[in-house]
Order: sequence, then C-alpha cells, then structure tokens
Amino acid sequence: MTSVDRVLIVGGGISGLCLAIALADRGVEAEIVEIKEEWTVYGVGIIQQSNVVRAMADLGIVDKYLDAAFPFEHPCLYGPDGSLLAKLPALRLAGPDYPANLGVSRPALHKVLTAEAEARGVRVTLGQTVSDLASDDSGVTVTFADGATDRYDVVVGADGLNSKVRDILFGDAYEPRFTGQAVWRHNFPRPEAMDHLCAYPSPEGNAGLCPLSEDLMYMFVTSVEPGNPRMSKEDLPALMRDRLKSYSGVIGELRDQISDPDEVVYKPMEVVFVAEPWFRGRVILIGDAAHTTTPHLAQGAGMAIEDAVVLAEELTGKSTVNDAFAAFHERRYERCKTLCEASVQVGDWEISHSPDADHQGMLVKMITLAAQPI
Ligand SMILES: Cc1cc2nc3c(=O)[nH]c(=O)nc-3n(C[C@H](O)[C@H](O)[C@H](O)COP(=O)(O)OP(=O)(O)OC[C@H]3O[C@@H](n4cnc5c(N)ncnc54)[C@H](O)[C@@H]3O)c2cc1C
Repeated sequence: MTSVDRVLIVGGGISGLCLAIALADRGVEAEIVEIKEEWTVYGVGIIQQSNVVRAMADLGIVDKYLDAAFPFEHPCLYGPDGSLLAKLPALRLAGPDYPANLGVSRPALHKVLTAEAEARGVRVTLGQTVSDLASDDSGVTVTFADGATDRYDVVVGADGLNSKVRDILFGDAYEPRFTGQAVWRHNFPRPEAMDHLCAYPSPEGNAGLCPLSEDLMYMFVTSVEPGNPRMSKEDLPALMRDRLKSYSGVIGELRDQISDPDEVVYKPMEVVFVAEPWFRGRVILIGDAAHTTTPHLAQGAGMAIEDAVVLAEELTGKSTVNDAFAAFHERRYERCKTLCEASVQVGDWEISHSPDADHQGMLVKMITLAAQPI
C-alpha cells in the first residue's frame, strides 16, 4: 500500500467531490480548495448514464444520489413529427434494482456530493487556489494564492476546463479549443408523459428533453456558432428561439414559451485533451482538467466520476505513488480518449452535415463501450 495519508484536491466540482468521498472512505485525509467564493452551480440538468449509476454504487452513495434524480430506462430518438426513430440500450449496470439512466439537476447533484463529503469530514476551503506546486520524492509543497504553504503526499488537479494545475504541469501545451458549436439550455415544468430522455436530431442541431425530478425537466439544443460570438444576456431568449425555429411538436410548443433571459443558459463548446500521461511527480489531473469533451454523448461528468473511483482505488492499492498514477493512467487514458473523440466527432458531423454521419450508431457504440468494466 502507498503511504498516502494526505491529499489536496484543487477544485470542488463533480470529480473533486467524488474523489474526496472515495479517499475519505479509504482512510485518506482529503482536503479541497475551491476557487469560487460561494459554492454555487448553475441551475440546469445533467444526463447520467448506466456507467455513472455503477460508479455511484462503487462510491457507496447510489441511494442518496437516486433520491435526488429522476431515473429512466431507454433514451429515445424521435423524428421532427414526434415519431419514434430509435430506442437506445438501457443497461442496468449497478444491478437489477437500479435504473439504467437518470437525469439530475446540477444543484441537486452538488448538494448530495457536498453532504456526503462533509459527512466524511472532508475540509473545503472556498475562495482559495494554488499558485505553485513543488513535487519531490516524498511529497508536494503547495503554495496557495494567499501565500500560505503546506505539504501533501499527493495533489490532484480537478479544476476543470481552464485548469490551473494543468498549466503548472504542462505550461501552455494544452489550451481549450472552441469546436464551432454551442449548447442552449432551459428548464421547464415536467409533464407526466415526459419520463425519459427524448432527443430530436435535426440537420441544424440536436434538441432534447430530459426529466430531472417529478416537477422539472430541461430542454437543450446544440447549434453551430461560427466565430464563437459573444451573446448579450437580454438577447438570449430570442436567440434560443431562433436556434429552435425548425422544430414543431413538443419542442416547438416549448420554444414559444422561452422569454426570460435568466432562464436561458448558453455555453460555447470547448474541448481539451492532455495527450500524454496526466501526471508529473506527485501531481495528477482528473476529470475535465485532463479531458474536456463536448456534451453530445453526455459522458463528461461520467468520465470525471469514474476517474475519481479509479484514482482512489489505485492510490490505496499500489506500493508507490508512481505505480498508482501509472496504473490509473493505464485504466483511464484510452477509454477517455475514445469517448472524447467520439463526442467531438458527433459535433463535427452536425457542423458539416456530413453524409457519413451515423449519430445513432455512434451512440450505441459508445453506450456499449462505457458499459465495459472500469
Ligand atoms: C453544456 C454542457 C452540458 C453537459 N452535459 C453533460 C451531461 O449531460 N452528462 C455528463 O456526464 N456530462 C455533461 N457535461 C460535462 C460535465 O459538466 C463535465 O464533464 C463535469 O462537470 C466535469 O467535472 P469536473 O469536476 O472535472 O470539472 P468542473 O465541473 O468544471 O469542476 C471544476 C471545479 O474546479 C473549480 N476551479 C476551477 N479553477 C480552479 C482553481 N484554479 N483553483 C481551485 N478551484 C478551481 C471550479 O470552480 C469548479 O468548481 C456537460 C458539459 C457542458 C459544458
């Protein structure tokens, strides 16, 4: 076993909190520094697939997680007229008593993860980050942004797309890249019939509805946004309606209700992938800091959560930190790379209207891949 007793996690998002929970359960003191002064997450939802339900079971928090979510089985693809095109696989990877897939609001997920981390004694410092990391044979000397220093056995960069830890490790070798697309999201009250993920692919983009709770669902639509234009907040409702103009049926009816700028969440798609081992010395990256992809396959957070599960296993299961990091990397690199590239590919098909596009085939292939053991 490694002599890892004390780990600093930079970033209190999905991957950082999951790692802190997994480490605490293995008797490792995990501490989080989060740059935000107030720990808030934006109020839309997230789709989590069967491999995430399985990972939450591995973390030992699946029941509380399910209480905060809306479970469903088959995601479905529909034509513009609402006719069913395809029922995607529903795999109950956490066991027969657990659902295949679910939707959950980001604040609800954050609340569960925060409560579970707090219950395990994880210390969280808000409004704090690192400015320097000096790794040696026995640990890492951390200099914080306020000038304080401390010593840890291992430091984990779980600080997302614009990772500071990634910059410290790799300089400017990996900068986020705008893919040419954006995604628009809006919450709505959930009608009873909207009880599974419904996707409505069109040549202009991919719209969909996902249930989040008994009362809530969210709508999303992807769009091509050449030049990554800046959108002013008051224009967002009209622009989102415009991106949905080709839709009729349920999407068209909901589109016509979009009017409040506070309810529209607009996000350009940016990606980054660290194409070499995600660690140097005793510092390692997980989640979006190592591999941010597009939302087309709804697997970004899934990969981040799996990273947390695997890193905690390896850190407490190998005799040296280097062996643990190498084993983690071996288990994660190709899986994340394949999923990230496939997700970007789907976006590229939408941008180019490629005749080779096979969204449905890609979805089934990646659901099958994600179901493989981690
Ligand atoms: C539009 C959109 C839709 C998506 N939909 C889905 C989906 O349906 N399903 C899915 O699985 N995934 C989805 N994703 C991907 C998912 O949101 C990410 O993969 C996931 O949030 C990654 O988690 P993370 O903890 O690694 O990073 P983040 O969630 O980005 O968390 C990083 C944390 O680190 C903090 N931080 C940043 N810099 C510093 C610093 N210097 N010091 C300290 N703290 C810092 C941040 O404030 C944040 O709290 C979507 C992404 C987008 C953009």
